[in-house]
Amino acid sequence: MKVLSVLGAVIIAAAIALVIVLAYRQTVEPVESTAAAAQITAQTTQVTTTAPTAAQTTAAVTAPPDADDALLLLVNYQYPIAKDYAPDLVDGDYYARVDKRAAKPLQQMLDDCRAAGYQPFVCSSYRTLEEQARLYNNKVYQYLKSGSTQVDAEREAAQWVAAPRTSEHHTGLAVDIVDLGYQLLDEGQMDTGTQQWLIKNCWKYGFILRYPLEKKKITHVHFEPWHYRYVGKEHAKKITQAGICLEEYLGKI
Ligand SMILES: [Zn+2]
Repeated sequence: MKVLSVLGAVIIAAAIALVIVLAYRQTVEPVESTAAAAQITAQTTQVTTTAPTAAQTTAAVTAPPDADDALLLLVNYQYPIAKDYAPDLVDGDYYARVDKRAAKPLQQMLDDCRAAGYQPFVCSSYRTLEEQARLYNNKVYQYLKSGSTQVDAEREAAQWVAAPRTSEHHTGLAVDIVDLGYQLLDEGQMDTGTQQWLIKNCWKYGFILRYPLEKKKITHVHFEPWHYRYVGKEHAKKITQAGICLEEYLGKI
């Protein structure tokens, strides 16, 4: 009798254990697959946020920019820079003078571009009002020489070389980067490996391609696939994902 009750207890214990195992499998497996699904979703989300896709470039900006952010300083033909604006400039290894807030990100971007096998070369950075005046006057002179009136010459020249006080180069936050093997400032820059890499990756370092082809009507500047402007990582990401220019981002069209 005692043996039978022990045997019965063992059978009951085994049955209970089997029920527990089955119940465990039914509850745990879906949890695992849910977790796996969540992980995949998280990975997908991560991929799309670190690399803006074509679809995302048309997305609207979700948060209004902080107009007080000094990195968003707007300088264009409508918004000339203050005559006494004096950025805190530093010298870099690969470039002339830039605002010190842009220096490290620029260095990192150039280093990574080089590590990817390209040859970026900073051909222009901070400019004084006098330097800009000289460049602008030279351009105006070229148009005058080819027969333009003074008004037309100034208007045409300004689309290629900003008039003094209207150039972003006065901020110290803008740089012109060319391919070492192709230093002409024309649309051919677009076809170099250096520009392809920079255009694709600059936002990760806080830079934007400032004068895109499709924004000429807003910027009033010809397509410049060499002019990059530092606005900080957060703003650069939003501007790039939205496919807009700085004027649109700031609501100052
Ligand atoms: Zn430039």
